Amino acid sequence: MKKPTIGVLALQGAIEEHISMTKLAFKEMGVEGSVQLVKTVGEVNAVHGLIIPGGESTVMGRLSSVNQTLQAVKQRIYDGMPILGTCAGLILLARKVYDRVLGETPQPILGVMDVVVERNAFGRQKESFEAELEIPTIGDKKFPGVFIRAPAIREVGPQVKVLSKLGKIAVAAQQGKMIGTAFHPELTEDTRIHQLLINMMMDTYL
Ligand code: GLN
Repeated sequence: MKKPTIGVLALQGAIEEHISMTKLAFKEMGVEGSVQLVKTVGEVNAVHGLIIPGGESTVMGRLSSVNQTLQAVKQRIYDGMPILGTCAGLILLARKVYDRVLGETPQPILGVMDVVVERNAFGRQKESFEAELEIPTIGDKKFPGVFIRAPAIREVGPQVKVLSKLGKIAVAAQQGKMIGTAFHPELTEDTRIHQLLINMMMDTYL
C-alpha cells in the first residue's frame, strides 16, 4: 500500500492532540506513516485507519450526519477499516447511548459496536479526573487514563472484549478492528493505544 495513513475526523473536538500523538506513535514504531485531517467523504475514503476524537458527541454526530461522513465512516468500518473512538468517539461507535437524566439520547451515531454507553457517567466537567488503568492488551505498565465528562460502557455484546476497567466499570473495549476508550489517550505521553490502531491498520492493509 502507499504510505499508511491514519485520519482524524476533524469536524469538532480534540483533533490536534490526536494528530501529534499518532505522529509520535509512528515515530516510536519506526513506521513511515502520515496523519490526515478528515472532513469530507472523499477524505474518509482515502485513509487506512480513523480516529474519532473526544469532544461533544451530539455536535460531532450532527455535523457528520449532515455532510454524510457518518454514513461513509460506517461503510468503511463494515469494509474492515480499523477505527479508534475516544470519549465522544466511543459514544459515536456505540449501538445505544443514554444519559442518566435524559434517558436514551436521540443523537446521530454510527451504532456499529455492540456496547451500550452511558454519557457523562462520571459527572460533568468539574468532575474530570485521572486514573492509572490496567490494560493487559498493551502490556503490564499502567496507562494514565484521563477522564473528561467521560462515558461508561454499561453493557457489552458477546463479540466485545473489555480491555480495561475502572473498578467495576468498563472503560475500554474492542470488537474486531474497533476500539473505544472512555478516556483520552491523546492527552498523555503514552502512545500504546495509538500503536494498537496503527498495528491493526498495518495488519489490514499491508
Ligand atoms: N460528554 C461528552 C459527550 O457526551 C464526551 C466528552 C468528551 O469527549 N470529552 O459527547
